Amino acid sequence: MFANLDVRTIYLVLAVLSITQALLMFYVRQVHYNSPYVAEWARGNMLIAAGLCLTLFSDLTSSGVIFSLMFMLLIWGNMHIAFGVALVAGRRPMLRSGTVACGAFMLAYLTAYFVGIEGFGRMVMFALASSVFLGYSIYCCFAAARDELRSSLRLVAVMNAAYLCSLYIHLAGVYFSGTIDPGKYSAWYSGLLITNIVLNYAQTIMLIIITSHRLQMELQQQATHDPLTNVFNRRGLTTLAERDIARSNRRGTLISVLMIDADHFKNINDSFGHGVGDIVLKVMATKIQSCLRIEDVLARLGGEEFLVMLPDTSLPNACEVADRIRLSIAQLSLPELSDGRRFTVSIGVAERQGVQQNFDELVDRADQALYQAKKNGRNQVFAHQLIKEPIKEAIKEPLREPGLEPATRKHVAIA
Ligand code: GH3
Ligand code: MG
Ligand code: MG
Repeated sequence: MFANLDVRTIYLVLAVLSITQALLMFYVRQVHYNSPYVAEWARGNMLIAAGLCLTLFSDLTSSGVIFSLMFMLLIWGNMHIAFGVALVAGRRPMLRSGTVACGAFMLAYLTAYFVGIEGFGRMVMFALASSVFLGYSIYCCFAAARDELRSSLRLVAVMNAAYLCSLYIHLAGVYFSGTIDPGKYSAWYSGLLITNIVLNYAQTIMLIIITSHRLQMELQQQATHDPLTNVFNRRGLTTLAERDIARSNRRGTLISVLMIDADHFKNINDSFGHGVGDIVLKVMATKIQSCLRIEDVLARLGGEEFLVMLPDTSLPNACEVADRIRLSIAQLSLPELSDGRRFTVSIGVAERQGVQQNFDELVDRADQALYQAKKNGRNQVFAHQLIKEPIKEAIKEPLREPGLEPATRKHVAIA
């Protein structure tokens, strides 16, 4: 069937398909305006399309300049596609090394033209250049983070590997037949080119699917996370809380909650500006997170107020975690607070009372405890309990630290 296909026709089909791929990518770029990887693919496909269009002006057998230019544009395009794959796989593309490699291959092509290296030699150079960029794409796909895109990226890697194989089979065919003359191309070569077209197009479609998937993941991340501190926001917390409450009901396990609020945070903003205030919030989130286990959930509820949900944790244990957080924040010395000032937090703690208590009620009780902690002088942990009498043995000695106001660590019951 392929025997009747003249190579020029195949190149023409390839050129038209590349243009459609490039247009498709530019369209996707319009929709996903902030996706740098789509921009790279659009650029790469445009360069490849331009290179293939050039073949329409070449006799394809010659070792002429147009043939060389085509390969140079293909290499350049492949480099951008590889950068795009690296970006979508969550890696930082090796821009400088890639550009240097691409420049070196282009220079080699020009040199080959001037010293008169024939078609086969130049095809070898093209295969080598493609191996570098396709190999880099394959590496990035396999080295991608363990997220939902992993299997799609592996499929892209397999397509790239198949494309690379077909390139070398083509090269071997040209070597053994001793010509790149299209008149002598067998049906086999034409079939190989068709395979390349299919692989190339399948990869474009796959990349568009990955782009949509990635965008969906990004939107999900934006909807459930706080952009400043990158911890969960109220919405993300609600989803996880429903999951943990259901699990706790099923297994009869405990859940405790900490409400954390920075003390006199307004003073930090007023003294050092909102920018420093933001830095303090980020440090605060990192510090709190470092005191937690993997299954604990940290969320920023707004302003300088954070919530921690501790599954499988009783009130005394939650108080210990809270005090660890309080202490590690109180000990921080931030260069941004240039007058040497320390900042502290107050923490309210509550444990879920039976399966009938919903998450809002639990948070409400932790909030009441926080209010008490503030009222008692700040920089302390206060636990909400249902009994009205203070738990005497839980009252600790006031904690004194250099540079800090005397702080009390009391676990006092409130109604
Ligand atoms: P208290 O010890 O009673 O909690 O005093 P406070 O000053 O921390 O409490 P208040 O709630 O009065 O002030 C919270 C401040 O947090 C007010 C607001 O300017 C600031 N704030 C809220 N959101 C942000 C933010 O995203 N960035 C920064 N830098 N400041 C914020
Ligand atoms: Mg505050
Ligand atoms: Mg507050």
